[in-house]
Amino acid sequence: MPLYEYECEKCGRRFEVRQSMGDDGATLECPSCGVRDPRRVFSSFFCAGSDDSSLVGGGSSCSTCSSGNCASCGI
Ligand SMILES: [Zn+2]
Repeated sequence: MPLYEYECEKCGRRFEVRQSMGDDGATLECPSCGVRDPRRVFSSFFCAGSDDSSLVGGGSSCSTCSSGNCASCGI
């Protein structure tokens, strides 16, 4: 079962959930504040070098693949 990462839109807490393909996560709750319907964070997000990079160790290179274009990760 794939592992997905979610981010709470209220408090910004990130957490990982194992769920089946096709499950949209709408019934998930934030483990910190209990708000439902967190936003799914795709692994390619880590490659973007966005302002969230500090949460995942920083850097603009992809940790999953060696490509500069992380759309190829597809995870
Ligand atoms: Zn929350």
